[in-house]
Amino acid sequence: MSMPALVTDPAILEGYLSDASNTHGVAAGLVRPVDTAEVAAVVAHAQSHGIPLTVTARRTSTTGGPIPDGGWLLSTERLDGIHALDEAGAGVLLGQYQEHVEAAGWFFPPDPTSRHECSLGGAVTCNASGARTYRYGPTRPWIRQVEAVLPSGEVVIASRDTPSPWPVPRWVEPHVKTAAGYFPADNLLDLLIGSEGTLGVITRVWTRLTPLPKAVLAFLAFFPTRESMLAFLAEARSGRHDPTAPLQPRCLEYFDRRSLDLIRGRVPVTAADCAVLVEVEHEGEAPLEAWFDALVRCDALVDETIVAEDDAGRARLHTIRHALPAEVNEIIARTGVRKVGTDFAVPDAALPEMLALYDDTGMPAVCFGHLGDNHLHLNFLPRSQAEWAEAKERYMVLARRAVALGGTVSAEHGIGRLKRAHLAMMVGDAQIEAWRALRRLADPAGVLGRGVMV
Ligand SMILES: Cc1cc2nc3c(=O)[nH]c(=O)nc-3n(C[C@H](O)[C@H](O)[C@H](O)COP(=O)(O)OP(=O)(O)OC[C@H]3O[C@@H](n4cnc5c(N)ncnc54)[C@H](O)[C@@H]3O)c2cc1C
Repeated sequence: MSMPALVTDPAILEGYLSDASNTHGVAAGLVRPVDTAEVAAVVAHAQSHGIPLTVTARRTSTTGGPIPDGGWLLSTERLDGIHALDEAGAGVLLGQYQEHVEAAGWFFPPDPTSRHECSLGGAVTCNASGARTYRYGPTRPWIRQVEAVLPSGEVVIASRDTPSPWPVPRWVEPHVKTAAGYFPADNLLDLLIGSEGTLGVITRVWTRLTPLPKAVLAFLAFFPTRESMLAFLAEARSGRHDPTAPLQPRCLEYFDRRSLDLIRGRVPVTAADCAVLVEVEHEGEAPLEAWFDALVRCDALVDETIVAEDDAGRARLHTIRHALPAEVNEIIARTGVRKVGTDFAVPDAALPEMLALYDDTGMPAVCFGHLGDNHLHLNFLPRSQAEWAEAKERYMVLARRAVALGGTVSAEHGIGRLKRAHLAMMVGDAQIEAWRALRRLADPAGVLGRGVMV
């Protein structure tokens, strides 16, 4: 088996040693395999020499997962072919793959806000979510099969009919959108999805597609108070389990007052307390009237609503939504601290309490995200190391409360290196030990993704 060249030039390595969380690492070398055989050769070599191996894709992780603490980096960037409409290399950019299938009239729904920067394989191994998860679920249900190199170096094709080679610890996930911990399934595909590069290197992905929606209406609605926004949310979600109900959004994205201030140049000056971005798929005429009636009933600032009925308008609204996490990441990079941002999802009844807690941050912060799933990102914007330490303490208090309310510590960003303590707090030491035992069975030398998740 041929091995790819080992890159040790510090100038090249430097570009691979930090991610969107501003976590920095060290590595002795970097390999960039061009095919599965090269990946298998690297993994087998790492096993036989006990070299820790960290898989890195596009490093949009917000949890330090692709950042090494020594050893080698295995980059998937050259596994970037699109082989068929429903089959692509793990390293292809997610957005590029989606545009490819959409040009043929098909749709691959998973849409992390970072989809034009992250890889397909990264989205699979993190079970990424996004705005459209409200309607379509996370990445998991849209994956039919993957090709992966297991920690032993064995190449496998994993579908839901492939039993896991290792016994999988049982546990009950919280009944909310979640990406925390190993998925409790006996099949290898579901175990690999969400395993964050610790149980195998995903090299190729076979997706499940659905016909591209005919048309999508999008609008950004502004609300004078939180109460009016929550009333609107209740109406917007009322059809969730009733396909005949008139309001059927595919996403509901929230911007708090502080978020609107942060992207002031991109949204109109408004006295609103908050805003919600809504997308609705439809067949013919846009269902504007039903939505405007709901906005009026809920006392929204109807005249300020920004409506987008075509692709260009929708792209403008997406740019606004994407500007938020991008701006946050730039601010923390400038400040030189690590990101402290929540990724909790809670049950419906707990949302008002979490929103109230997110108001009280004691330092600059913004709160935005996936309102439909009660999954908001509160991002602290500490101005100093002292404020960063305080943000971490406040974060932990919030995490405990989210868990006590039946929520999860990570709904989509995963655990990586930064959120291991939060996962342990959520599931308890016995569960962590059970997962450690799984890792020891799969990878006795602890080569793959060392320090990630548990
Ligand atoms: C601006 C911004 C917005 C974001 N919005 C969202 C969002 O809406 N929803 C969401 O879910 N996430 C979001 N994220 C987080 C991130 O984009 C996702 O987790 C993404 O799936 C990571 O993909 P990546 O290619 O960058 O992987 P990386 O960051 O390089 O790696 C992430 C983890 O996956 C592992 N990995 C990567 N590829 C493979 C592979 N082929 N095989 C095995 N392991 C692998 C790595 O070891 C690491 O543990 C956002 C990030 C940013 C910066």
